[in-house]
Amino acid sequence: MMRQFSCVSLLLLMLCVLMAALVRPSVATARREFRVAAIGDQGLDRSRRTMNILTDAPEMTAKDAEETTRRRMDERLNYRRFGTRKAPSQDHFGAWLKNATVVSGVRTPINGSLSPPPLAQDWTASPRGNSPPPTTMAAAALLRTHHHHHPCKPPPPPRAPVLCRATTAAGAAAAAALRSLAPPTRPELLSVDLPRYDPARSRPVDLAVVGGGPAGLAVAQRVAEAGLSVCAIDPSPALVWPNNYGVWVDEFEAMGLTHCLDAVWPSASVFIDDGRAKSLDRPYARVARRKLKSAMMDRCVANGVVFHQAKVAKAVHNEASSLLICDDGVAVPATVVLDATGFSRCLVQYDKPYNPGYQVAYGILAEVDDHPFDIDKMLFMDWRDSHLPEGSEIRERNRRIPTFLYAMPFSPNRIFLEETSLVARPGLAMDDIQERMAARLRHLGIRVRSVEEDERCVIPMGGPLPVLPQRVVGIGGTAGMVHPSTGYMVARTLATAPIVAESIVRFLDTGNGGLAGDALAAEVWKELWPGNRRRQREFFCFGMDILLKLDLDGTRRFFDAFFDLEPRYWHGFLSSRLFLPELLLFGLSLFGNASNASRLEIMAKGTVPLAKMIGNLIQDRDR
Ligand SMILES: Cc1cc2nc3c(=O)[nH]c(=O)nc-3n(C[C@H](O)[C@H](O)[C@H](O)COP(=O)(O)OP(=O)(O)OC[C@H]3O[C@@H](n4cnc5c(N)ncnc54)[C@H](O)[C@@H]3O)c2cc1C
Repeated sequence: MMRQFSCVSLLLLMLCVLMAALVRPSVATARREFRVAAIGDQGLDRSRRTMNILTDAPEMTAKDAEETTRRRMDERLNYRRFGTRKAPSQDHFGAWLKNATVVSGVRTPINGSLSPPPLAQDWTASPRGNSPPPTTMAAAALLRTHHHHHPCKPPPPPRAPVLCRATTAAGAAAAAALRSLAPPTRPELLSVDLPRYDPARSRPVDLAVVGGGPAGLAVAQRVAEAGLSVCAIDPSPALVWPNNYGVWVDEFEAMGLTHCLDAVWPSASVFIDDGRAKSLDRPYARVARRKLKSAMMDRCVANGVVFHQAKVAKAVHNEASSLLICDDGVAVPATVVLDATGFSRCLVQYDKPYNPGYQVAYGILAEVDDHPFDIDKMLFMDWRDSHLPEGSEIRERNRRIPTFLYAMPFSPNRIFLEETSLVARPGLAMDDIQERMAARLRHLGIRVRSVEEDERCVIPMGGPLPVLPQRVVGIGGTAGMVHPSTGYMVARTLATAPIVAESIVRFLDTGNGGLAGDALAAEVWKELWPGNRRRQREFFCFGMDILLKLDLDGTRRFFDAFFDLEPRYWHGFLSSRLFLPELLLFGLSLFGNASNASRLEIMAKGTVPLAKMIGNLIQDRDR
């Protein structure tokens, strides 16, 4: 037995060596791109520059990229100033660059058929002749004296890691035809006159909010209302959020936000399969995203929030305050920093491997000839697969990793349709989803006349929480707040924003002794992720781990039992209102409701995730 075991191990080892040998050449030919941010603090030009270094050399390190940037920028500046690439003398010129840091390093494989991009792209300089923002000098000074630097991590890849799959030519053509109906994205802007942040300001703002999504603005408005100074930083502060947000009406009712809903359906429906449908007696709505953002911006402006239009590249912290360095060279000093950059996770740090599941969806807001759905019901989930031909490869793909249709029928001719993969790891490829959607629409007899807008949705779900606590405070997508089993987040974030805002205001209050730096951030994190919320999230991650293992039949059995639960259970689960003791009752109730096949499946597929959850809960308790 032992001998057999060692033979197998040897064989595996050999296979690994073989794989490594096979894989090496492709690593060697991978082209990497380093994006380097440089900040000068001498000479005439003190602004921040960024430079992209593209390299084929596998041995090039981030440090080398920084050095190359430093050299090239010095050369470039000398050329401009002295007409030579060599500095006339070190004394004359000195070290122009105080700091050059790699802000991202992306590995992109070379496509042999493409002509290689230029070795080094030009830097994006701030307009010449502009005097440097005063805070840039402060930035350089702080860079010398402060202890922790948090460069913005590279944004996650725009798509989730995707499954490889074969697509038929006809399916691909149908998906392409569907895509071709979508108009080019036209960013919609609010017409607001935004008070701007004054870079000459020397005193730190009480709170800098990085990211102007729902999460960031919800906190900004409340902290400003309490009389504190707030600066909100976003590359496009006036942009109307692009996502189509759906919520349960009771969630918005509880926050007094029903005026920010633009369509309400008194109930929702779920198709389990061709023979079984459920009616959910719970009103659902689409968020009026323009109205909601506009209302939040108005409240921000009325309470004195100032805006800075830029991307934050890095945070530098000292004991009592922080400095946010933006990609336009401006540095914003702040007592508290809130990262609300969604899935970009700009400043919040994670110390465990990030291994989320991905919800991937493709949605269109369309004008159609006709559709078969009741306009008084939103379609929450349609798991029918009769649109996929028996025995076809696409049907088999859907059997293994199912997708469902989510639809908001606004009228007999106007409808939002979204084909969704609830959760998969790796995430499903977008063109696979589009192919399934095209097949479904054809089968349902939905002829699309025109598409008003389309939406590509990639939501990381579950995965570890950020480091708790840490210096930068977080909220929303960046802080692990997406529901790990559903991908929903907006309502929960808006409901949590007052807690975070109140906590910042309370702990900053100098009249009450006031806290600063790490101590203040630790208190805020404690209120954002108290023990009961962390345990709740663990349970939701357990739910996600089970969903990841279910094929179409298993998923159908699961939702068949789920939506038969008492409403307080399924409402509470979807809206993050159940906590651990109730969640255990919910689990037992679900198990009791399930068919025998489903029970067996939950036991077989849920044992490992259950053990993982228990392990994590014990670890969390012992922290
Ligand atoms: C297509 C789609 C549809 C969704 N639909 C729903 C739904 O129906 N219901 C629901 O509950 N949830 C939904 N979600 C999930 C989640 O609620 C949203 O992603 C939500 O927008 C997250 O809010 P947020 O404020 O955390 O981040 P975001 O809305 O992503 O806002 C982040 C902001 O930070 C800015 N930013 C990023 N990097 C920087 C930087 N370095 N410096 C300064 N600013 C920066 C961005 O420009 C952006 O404005 C959806 C998500 C997607 C992608």
